[in-house]
Amino acid sequence: MNVSDTEIVNSILMEEGMQPVNEPDEAEVIFVNTCSIRENAEERVWNRLKEFKALKREKDGRLTVGVLGCMAERIREQIMEKEELVDLVVGPDAYRDLPKLLADVDDGRKAVNVLLSLEETYADVKPVRTNDNGVSAFVTIMRGCDNMCAFCVVPFTRGRERSRPAESILDELQRLSDQGYKEVTLLGQNVNSYDDGEHSFADLMYKASQVDPEMRIRFSSPHPKDFPEELLQSISEQPNLCNYIHIPAQSGNNAVLERMRRPYTREQYLDLVEKMRKIIPGVTLSTDIITGFCDETEEEHRDTLSLMAEVKYDLAYMFAYSERGRTLAQRKYEDNVPEEVKKRRLSEIIEQQMNIQEELNKKEIGRRHLVLVEGTSKRSDEQLRGRTDTNKMVVFDRRDYEKGDYVEVTITDCTSATLMGDPIRKSSIAEFEAEPVAV
Ligand code: SAH
Ligand code: SF4
Repeated sequence: MNVSDTEIVNSILMEEGMQPVNEPDEAEVIFVNTCSIRENAEERVWNRLKEFKALKREKDGRLTVGVLGCMAERIREQIMEKEELVDLVVGPDAYRDLPKLLADVDDGRKAVNVLLSLEETYADVKPVRTNDNGVSAFVTIMRGCDNMCAFCVVPFTRGRERSRPAESILDELQRLSDQGYKEVTLLGQNVNSYDDGEHSFADLMYKASQVDPEMRIRFSSPHPKDFPEELLQSISEQPNLCNYIHIPAQSGNNAVLERMRRPYTREQYLDLVEKMRKIIPGVTLSTDIITGFCDETEEEHRDTLSLMAEVKYDLAYMFAYSERGRTLAQRKYEDNVPEEVKKRRLSEIIEQQMNIQEELNKKEIGRRHLVLVEGTSKRSDEQLRGRTDTNKMVVFDRRDYEKGDYVEVTITDCTSATLMGDPIRKSSIAEFEAEPVAV
């Protein structure tokens, strides 16, 4: 989401004649686009700001430093006061105001705009992608979140849920296709609650799939409460809607889910997983998990382990609970699971998850996949890296293939995180014949 927001900020500033540079010491203005989701995300920002303060001293003050995004909303006073680290604080709904705020700073004033909006979707701003691979792009389709999960700061930093009109999204997809992009991830804090008044998320996904049959469509991050059958049917039927779904569970225990204000039970969640696997054979699944939420007992923790063992996720993002200001959990509950216990529970779920991933990846050996090449592998220029429709990273020999190609690959080996393969031929979504998957 922050990458996507930065592309909106790029566009707004470049309209004003500003240009991006590569190194901090070439810059006249530096913006740090921030995240508040957990304490350690914020710590990294403070460290970064200290580096830029040193740089500002080296440049005799000829540098403007601004904080953008969620931290701006959360702690504007501290940011402005603390050691005069920054000149400018701008929340996620106020980026159109950046040119005026920069002018205020030039006039010697500190500038702040952290107003949240009920309407802003930046629908007419054409994002400027300065830092992507030219193959996959992010497109924000809705902003904010109304769910108020007890642990989560997002509703406070990003405000109310609102959806960007479908037409402007489809126009952007067409533009990306014209520019040669092969994969788009539709983004929102709560992406499947999308509703622009005329289109549901299922409608939008179907229309998105029709823009360019050779452009893959993914989405992130959805909520388990909004998965109508129609959406799953579309994913199953349209070859370019990817067979990979992220379904954040957070916990496998009903009492914890209730304390978290997640509106489903373990049983309902498992039913949804079963439905997904039935309607979309071969679909891969990932999740988000929080360990050590307020009052979490060992037994409740074991329910999370057992949920994860039962579902067997292909990927999981796992976090120790981090208390955030203003949330219901911070106001009503006690953050009473000791840090060592949170860490130990986290390493238990990570260890189990790595074993499951390796087991699942081993089953991929011998299968064929259509891989979209994103670039060279991190280890060697002689190897390419890309993902399967099911979102698994594959590395294979470069030969004559290039970034942006769809390549048919046979999987030969794996680790818990990556598949290794042999390229067979250049192909396309239309040509590729997937193997039947055992259900
Ligand atoms: N809208 C998405 C989540 C966005 S935040 C959803 O509902 O799934 C991404 C993940 O960060 C969450 O799913 C949660 O697992 C984690 N997270 C959010 N708040 C957290 C906190 N206070 N401590 C630890 N992890 C948190
Ligand atoms: Fe946070 Fe996601 Fe819950 Fe919204 S749905 S409050 S973003 S965890």
